[in-house]
This record gives sequence, structure tokens and C-alpha cells, in this order.
Amino acid sequence: MAKKTVADIDVKGRKVLMRCDFNVPLDDDCNITSDDRIVKALPTIKKILEGSGSLILMSHLGRPQGRKDEKFSLAPVAKRLSELLGRNVVFADDCVGPQTSAKAKALKPGDCMLLENLRFRKEETIKDKAAKEDAQLRQAKDDFAKELADMADVYVDDAFGTAHRDNASMYTVPMMMEGKPRVIGFLIEKELKFLGDALRNPGRPFVAILGGAKVSDKIGVIENLVSKVDRIIIGGAMAYTFLKGRGKSIGKSLCENDFIDKGQELLKQALDANCEVVLPVDHHVVRELKPGAKHRTAVGDIDPGYQAVDIGPMAAEAYAKKITDAKTIVWNGPMGVFEIPPFDEGTKAIALAVAEATDKGATSIIGGGDSASAVNKLGLQDRVSHISTGGGASLEFLEGKVFKCLEILDEK
Ligand code: AMP
Repeated sequence: MAKKTVADIDVKGRKVLMRCDFNVPLDDDCNITSDDRIVKALPTIKKILEGSGSLILMSHLGRPQGRKDEKFSLAPVAKRLSELLGRNVVFADDCVGPQTSAKAKALKPGDCMLLENLRFRKEETIKDKAAKEDAQLRQAKDDFAKELADMADVYVDDAFGTAHRDNASMYTVPMMMEGKPRVIGFLIEKELKFLGDALRNPGRPFVAILGGAKVSDKIGVIENLVSKVDRIIIGGAMAYTFLKGRGKSIGKSLCENDFIDKGQELLKQALDANCEVVLPVDHHVVRELKPGAKHRTAVGDIDPGYQAVDIGPMAAEAYAKKITDAKTIVWNGPMGVFEIPPFDEGTKAIALAVAEATDKGATSIIGGGDSASAVNKLGLQDRVSHISTGGGASLEFLEGKVFKCLEILDEK
């Protein structure tokens, strides 16, 4: 069943506590280098403010390890948000405490306040499993969540990037607000629509493209997808664990030896499910991975002393052909060491093929920071259907995992 959104409730005169993902990149001087995550939260924020709600925003930024650390302050986000909204955003320099709750109380309809980084408090990231086993931890997490929950009459979750986590602000707070409206924002609504539709009701052929460093990170995704997709295209370092299992020589290429057998088991599962798995037939290889390294193409086996750093030109062409007729595409992970040109060629070829298939009517979903940044770098962001705001969360969604923090929110 679909979840209620901010469009389904009346926030007039109510205090609304909204969990955002303002985990923006900062430079050494704490300047925001991309305000994308703030911009993406604007539709939900504006809806609440225009509906005369008093808005209390909360987020994490980076990993400050439960301590106040100015490097991870959300103050620059409050400033940028004020500029984008054209109105003052109050900044509370602690996410809880008497001063913060007094500030929350004083908010008038249409006012907006941002709380300081939730992760300046160690209670935010106490795992539920640890809290279950340790009464003191449970109490600390509950007390912290209650302070946040007590500030508001309505809970809104628009932080897809942390939807797979059991952080206090994601799960304990809405649990404490039972009986009050608890809904999702427009950003999560869009994520659930694209990812949910792809898994439930995909146009076919349904093609998954998986890359990146490790097979071990993607086992769950592959296991869940073999029965759902028509084709899995594999690139990146993870391909070499599969290829070694098939008896190929992979030289010095990255390989997870402990997962070779699991890789072969996955290939067998795919075969049984009638799901085609495509592995690279050639590779860009180097003796040493560094910028400007001399590289050559290896077809089939890779000589000892060489390491694969990208899929080769034949693989890139073959992969593009396998994408061209797709009606649904999910892509997570680069095809090579795309941070070091020219080893970004395979990833670029895939990004272009995905954009071209989308032009022809496919629904394409890009998950994962690296594939998203490749698409953005090539200026193709408007030629794909959806770039997920949560790399880890979108992977877990594709694994078929249930997000308990979303489960508890109101149904339509
Ligand atoms: P992941 O976080 O699993 O999506 O992996 C992304 C990382 O995988 C990127 O930093 C890439 O540089 C790296 N990567 C992709 N292909 C290769 C490869 N063939 N060899 C080494 N690293 C790779």
C-alpha cells in the first residue's frame, strides 16, 4: 500500500518535524560544494511552509562520531537554505536541549528552523540491536528520541539516503510519535515509486547493470534480481571474482577469493532462473594503477603482472547493445576505475547507452554515488528517469529488504 505524503495531511498551525538528508559535500573551509540535496528537499519544505506549518528540520552530516565538531556543522546548510527559500531559517546550535525546544515552541506558522547535526549526539546512531541487549543504551536512545519527538505534532521523513538505517531520528522518533500523523515527503515518494515500480511491475526487457569494487556488497542484490530481471550486466572489479571462478586468468585484478564459489553459485541461480548474465570479454589493463599509467587491451585472459581497470572496448560495445532494447534499467556501480581517466571509458559508454535507451522510452534508475556522478559528469542527468538519492538505501531496496522506518509510517 502507498504511504501518506505531506500532500495528504493538514499541517496548518502544527509543528512539523522533518528528517532530511542534508549530508552535503563540504570543502576544507566548510563551503558547500553541491547543494543538490538541499534543492531536492525544497518541494516538501515549501509544501509544509505554504500550508502554514511550523517546520523543524533535522539531518546528519558526515560522521562526527557523536561529538560536536564544527567541521560537520549544519550552519552552512541553514544559510544556503535561507537563500534558496528567500526567508530566514532559524538555526538551533544543538539538536536537543531546553534552548532548542524553547526555540521550537516559539516557531510561528510558516517559520522554519534547522537543528544542528544529529550525529553530534552519540544516541542518534545507537543500533537497535545494541539497545535491545543493553538497557542503558536503550534508555539513552529513547530519551534522545523523545526530546526530538516532543517538539512536534507531525513527523515527515524525506531522507531516503538513511532509510535503511535504524538511527533514532529515522525510527525511534516516529515510533514515539504514534497516534500523530507520520508521513513521507515527496523525495521518498519518488524513490519508492521508481524503485518499487521497477521491482513490482517492470517493462521488459528488465536489465540490471552492476559494477563497483566488490561482489560481496552485491550478493543480496543479485540473489533478489535473478528472478526479476531478464539480464544482468556485470563490470568493475567485481567481474573478476566471477571470471576467476570460470577458470579465466585475471592477472593482478582485484578478486575476492572467499567469494569465488558464491559467485559461481549466483551464476547457476541465474541460469536456472533464465536470467542472462553478461561478463566482460575484454579489459583495459595496466601494470600499475596510477594516473597516466600505460594501458593496453587484453582479450579473454589477463597476463600475470597486469590488472584490469576497466571493461574493454568490445565489452563496452556489447554491453551497450544489451542495454539498447531495455524497457527498465537499474544501474549501480562503475565499470572501472572511473576516477582515473581514461579508465572511465567503459562507465561513460554505459551511461550513454542508458541515456539512449531512456530516450527511446526505457525507465532508467541510477543508484549509487559513483554511477550517479558519472551520469552527472557527462551531463546526462536529464536523460535518465531517476537518480536515486540513496546509494546504500537503493541497493538494499533492490535486495528486497524492508525498511522498518518506512513500514511504520501512515498508509494512504
Ligand atoms: P563500489 O563502492 O562497490 O560501488 O565501488 C566503486 C569503486 O570501484 C570505485 O572507486 C572504482 O574505482 C572501483 N573499481 C571499479 N572497477 C575497478 C577495477 N576493475 N579495479 C579496481 N577498482 C575498481
